[in-house]
Amino acid sequence: MNETSREELVSYMKQYGVDYTTGNVTPTLCALFGIEPPDVCGGFTVPQVVDQAYHLFGDDGKCQKALVFCPDAVGDVHMQRHPEIVGRIKKATDFMFKGTTVMASVTPVCFATIFSGASPEVHGIKEYMKPVLSIQTLFDVMALAGKNVAIVSVNGCSIDMIFRKRKVDYYSLRTDEAVHQLSLKLIEEDYYDLIISYQTDYDHYSHLYGPWSDEAIGQLELSAKYTESLVAATDKYWSKYNRAFLVTPDHGNHEISPENTKGSHGMNIADDMVVNHFYRLRPAQ
Ligand SMILES: [Zn+2]
Repeated sequence: MNETSREELVSYMKQYGVDYTTGNVTPTLCALFGIEPPDVCGGFTVPQVVDQAYHLFGDDGKCQKALVFCPDAVGDVHMQRHPEIVGRIKKATDFMFKGTTVMASVTPVCFATIFSGASPEVHGIKEYMKPVLSIQTLFDVMALAGKNVAIVSVNGCSIDMIFRKRKVDYYSLRTDEAVHQLSLKLIEEDYYDLIISYQTDYDHYSHLYGPWSDEAIGQLELSAKYTESLVAATDKYWSKYNRAFLVTPDHGNHEISPENTKGSHGMNIADDMVVNHFYRLRPAQ
């Protein structure tokens, strides 16, 4: 466990009075798969999830498959303002944890923490830039454990860029719909142990038209729809495996000002910093 990462992650948790950090995704997935987390990790294994895995999968039972869906910029503020939409993600999963992301609350900084458990001070991405990470990540330890990993995302986005040069298959496509359809196909093909499936367009339309514009909310509805269909696909095609399904957005967003209602994020304010992560476990049939 890396002390610097731990301190930085905990500082945001304390600031917002929550007991979850996005840095928990990697150590919790590692615990589910029974592998050691990356050496840079400062996050916590989530006890409720690990306990449920113990009950569902049994003493020696480990998670065999996981799908992690990453809708960009869907924060706790979206659950507050549109519970009829984000509530569908909660309904499709077992646990919802309200937690903090990291500063600067922009995509590459936040996903670097989600998929390493390292804080920005340790992973090194502190602003909007997309270098290939040199630290140990979830993808390195999964590859070391012999797991097959796919990252499915849109061309040139942060997730597509910063985790390159690993023993991972990178599927870089042009649209969210193509990413979603390929994710469904990869679940059905049953080759990968871990699939990361990304959605960019809520964030994209929020920047263009505003977080609460019809265009952006249409994409938020797609986040719920994608969640439901990915869950259904894992139940249909991965039923013989102990499996996990996670929804892990990177940050929230806010309107720039009352006069300029376009979306922005990157600040240390609740609308940007507080997000919900969702977990669902199912045992092999
Ligand atoms: Zn983002």
